[in-house]
Amino acid sequence: MKIAERTLQAGSIRGAGLVRRFDLPGSGPSITQITTFCPDDFGPGHTNLYLIESNRMILVDTGVPTRLIAPLFYSRFGRRIPPEVEALPPDLNERILARGLELAGRTWDDLDLLVLSHGHGDHFLLGDHIVGQSGARVAAHVLDTPFICNPWSTLMMWSTSGQQARSLGMPQNKVMNASQALSLQRQTMNLSLKVDLPIFEEGPLEPGYSVSGVRVKHLPGHSPGSIGLIVGDDGPDQVLLPGDVLLDPITPIPTDLLAYLRTLEDLENMGEFALALPAHGDEIADVKARAAFLREHHRRRLGLTHHVCCRPASIWDVAVTDGYFDVPVDPGEFNFLAGWEAMIHVVLLSMVGGVQRCDIRDGVHYFQASHEPFEAVYDRLRELVRDRAIIPLARF
Ligand SMILES: [Zn+2]
Repeated sequence: MKIAERTLQAGSIRGAGLVRRFDLPGSGPSITQITTFCPDDFGPGHTNLYLIESNRMILVDTGVPTRLIAPLFYSRFGRRIPPEVEALPPDLNERILARGLELAGRTWDDLDLLVLSHGHGDHFLLGDHIVGQSGARVAAHVLDTPFICNPWSTLMMWSTSGQQARSLGMPQNKVMNASQALSLQRQTMNLSLKVDLPIFEEGPLEPGYSVSGVRVKHLPGHSPGSIGLIVGDDGPDQVLLPGDVLLDPITPIPTDLLAYLRTLEDLENMGEFALALPAHGDEIADVKARAAFLREHHRRRLGLTHHVCCRPASIWDVAVTDGYFDVPVDPGEFNFLAGWEAMIHVVLLSMVGGVQRCDIRDGVHYFQASHEPFEAVYDRLRELVRDRAIIPLARF
């Protein structure tokens, strides 16, 4: 690896505030990582933003406005807010970002383009502030613009999570209350962002706005419009900014597991990368090995899901099974992320006939596995993912 790395500032608030610079060989762009605060006691943890300096200056992703951390994460996911999070400065992330720019020797005026790796809140919600400071234009894949441009998409997900929890068999969210929901409703204007440059194609950014040494790769599955940016000349020194598609040590939660498994397969078959710099957690030295690890991780989880459904099981029964997650899930507590993760595995098994819905009782859906070894189900899935075979998909 010929990428030179320097820490410009160590992380201070539970690791947030870290600023690191990566210099690519030759005349390649430099990349500065700025780590903003996001809950690190559950979920993906701090959000890493990346400043790419080339013929134009790009910022990749935004982090979350500090004042939205509590309602968007702790309340929505049914968690109590720890006192140290309550005590955070109200403009912590805004200050971390300004300091990161300063350490990179830049000002807001230098910023040309804000590129969003995908349309989840921890990647675009501070965009309003950034565009206000810099006047930068915003680029995102067109398939994620419904999340980014529509202020109600985040709220809709939030408000329907109660009904969804019931159908999965999960307990209700006792932490979020009506007044918190209302306070977020009042902030709808801050929950969306104008996208100046919708990205339709892979390759260089929009003609007339291309940035030397930066290419787009569509990596769907974590969200429909997730993209990776490939920085540097084609070859083993190039760096991948995969957003949330590849993470380490945590495993990303797909919204569409079928598309995500195809993306992992693509990453295993792509050219070499010197390293990947993801939107959360640690850098990844071996992209192919991490993609293979994540594929195997989902194979194991699909196998366990199939096994739990040998007798009728709700999605929540799957999620609270011993060993399903590294950290045990409390069966009596609302846990949106655990329920979602179990759900996407049940959905995919269902599509390839590995499980079938056998009952709906008191609003809770139950599933039963097919009478065949899991390996037979997984072989069908592999044909679909790897060989792009045309296999009819059952409805969920
Ligand atoms: Zn994220």
